Amino acid sequence: MISKRPGADLCLRRHAETGAECCLTDSHYPRPHRDINGAIWHDGLCPECHGGGTVLDTVVCPSCNGVGFALLELHED
Ligand SMILES: [Zn+2]
Ligand SMILES: [Zn+2]
Repeated sequence: MISKRPGADLCLRRHAETGAECCLTDSHYPRPHRDINGAIWHDGLCPECHGGGTVLDTVVCPSCNGVGFALLELHED
């Protein structure tokens, strides 16, 4: 559970697969998102729904699980 602190705009972008929230501030770009457990990821607008994966709290896009963003490949080699 992440509480939003006053004066700190957190990213809170959700991981498209795990649903983990990014705990970095909004200004972390272009560094990757990172959750409180240290997992990092990059994402981009979902190519299927272009960010509109959730309508009236209902997930309409199976590609991104409703978060509107799709994972980008991390190149770790
Ligand atoms: Zn983030
Ligand atoms: Zn989508």
